[in-house]
Formats: sequence, C-alpha cells, structure tokens
Amino acid sequence: MKVLEVQSLNKYYGSLHAIQDLNLHLESGQVLGLLGPNGSGKTTTLGMLLGITLPNSGFYQWFDEPEHHLARLRIGALLETPNFYPYLNADENLAIIAQIKGVQENFSPLLDLVGLGNRRSSKFSTFSLGMKQRLAIASAMVGDPEVLIFDEPTNGLDPQGIAEVRNSIIQIAKSGKTILMASHMLDEVEKVCSHVAILKQGQLLAQGPVGALLGNQVLVEISASGVEMESFIQSLPEVSNVEFENGIYYFQMPENWTGAEINRLAMDKGFTLSHLQLKKRSLESEFLAITKDN
Ligand code: ATP
Repeated sequence: MKVLEVQSLNKYYGSLHAIQDLNLHLESGQVLGLLGPNGSGKTTTLGMLLGITLPNSGFYQWFDEPEHHLARLRIGALLETPNFYPYLNADENLAIIAQIKGVQENFSPLLDLVGLGNRRSSKFSTFSLGMKQRLAIASAMVGDPEVLIFDEPTNGLDPQGIAEVRNSIIQIAKSGKTILMASHMLDEVEKVCSHVAILKQGQLLAQGPVGALLGNQVLVEISASGVEMESFIQSLPEVSNVEFENGIYYFQMPENWTGAEINRLAMDKGFTLSHLQLKKRSLESEFLAITKDN
C-alpha cells in the first residue's frame, strides 16, 4: 500500500535551490533512509513533508488523504530532541506527551520496544544520551502513528548509544511501522533501512532497495592478451559499467558470481586470463560512485 507520494517538490531559500524537483515514494512497511551529506536537503525535505516548511512548488500526499493536517495525525515525528522533565521518570514524561496528544495508553509495550522497559521508573536525568534518545523515539510513537519520521536519530551519540538507537529502530520496523529517516551515514542506512533515497545538493540521485543500490555488485578486473575481450565481457550476463584502463578491463557483475565461474567461461571460449580479480564494492565506494559528477 502506498503511504507517501512526492512529485516535483521544490524549495528555495532566497536564491538557493535547496530541493530540486524531488520525487519520492514510500510503501507501507518500508524503512526508507534519506541519505545525503550535510546540507543536502534532508531536514528541508522532512520539514516539507511534515507541513513545517512550505514548498515553493510540487505535490505530496500521505496515504490517500489529500488534507495534510489530517494525514499529519497519523504520523509520529522526531526532528529534534524534545524537552523532557529531568525530575520525572520515563512513564511520567510519556504521560505528559499523551496528554498533549489527547490519547490514553499503556506505555509498557512502547518502552519495551525501545529497550527501556526496566528503566521506566527511573528519572530522566539519570538516563544516558542513548536512553534519552530512545525515550524521544518512544514519545514520537505515543498515539500509535502508522508512520514514523526520524531526522538523524543517532546524531551526537557515542557508539553504544548509536547501536542501541539503531536496534530500537530495527525493532520498531519489525513491529510493522513504516519509517522515513534521514541519515548521513551509509552504514546506518545499510543496517537499518530496507530502502534508500540518495540526496546530493537538493537533487535525488537514486532511490530503491538498499541491496540494489548499495553494494550487491562485485567489481571484476580481467585481462588477457591477444583475445577479443570486449565481446567476451559483453557476453557475460548482467554486466555493467565496462571500462578499460592500462590493459585491464573493469566491470560490475552481481555479487553471486565467482572468479572460478568467470574463468570457466573464458576457458570455454578458448583463452586463459592473465589477470582476474573480484572486489566487493564497499558502501563507501558505491556512495562515492553514485554521488560523483552529479
Ligand atoms: P544537515 O544534516 O546539515 O542538517 P540537511 O541534509 O538536513 O543537512 P538542510 O538542513 O535541509 O540539509 O539544508 C539544505 C540547504 O538549505 C543547505 O545549504 C542549508 O544551508 C540551506 N538551508 C536550510 N535551512 C535554511 C533556512 N532556513 N534559510 C536559508 N537556508 C537554509
């Protein structure tokens, strides 16, 4: 089921074209990572989709609900850390948020989901930064919204806090929520998200399942003298990005291909490869490849 459709969304800050013709889609149950370096427009995008920032042009619709303010009631968002009362415990802080939202609920399942079940009676002031952020995530979930939006949810946390927050988001996703989260960290998106949309300077460079965009390819290097390499390479299935440099051909293939299989196909054609190497493309190099020259 479609949860969000964004078409040709544009945002200017004066002469800065901060978001350029953005198209996005989000399906129920997906965890979509909006991935981009600082200043690429992630917060601006989330702000527009939450009705906080006004777009200059374009269209977006949540669910099948044309009224943004009604759709907004079905979305829980965490753009910046809320102010909790330091002298109240987790339960009491959530109760205040529930009161503001006009809902009544038992917070036990929510606190368990973010790993704070056993600390629900502890004062907020005794929490680590990671615990505070997990309570913030729980607060966005008060009222049981269908969709959750998180802006850089692990920013400013130590490695343990980062791991705890990521784990909480994974648990929330498993519970069936649809999530849209901004991140500038590739490994975070790979660990937490099912889908990714890559933003650079306000432009969407790619969108799709994480596996398809971030590294299910191997980089193959081969060379052999005196044979028609180009046609051999093109005869291999699902080959892409063929390049030739200093006597070596470079290309990509799906990661389930092995050197032995490529070697066998070459031998079937009657020649021996003088060089054969397969490298798994790292996320970093994949991200750089997507963002370079764009
Ligand atoms: P970060 O992770 O650093 O917050 P981001 O990807 O969320 O980055 P945005 O905060 O959306 O990016 O910023 C996108 C661009 O718009 C940046 O160049 C930023 O300087 C600019 N910008 C953001 N908000 C405003 C504003 N209120 N007025 C003017 N320019 C702005």
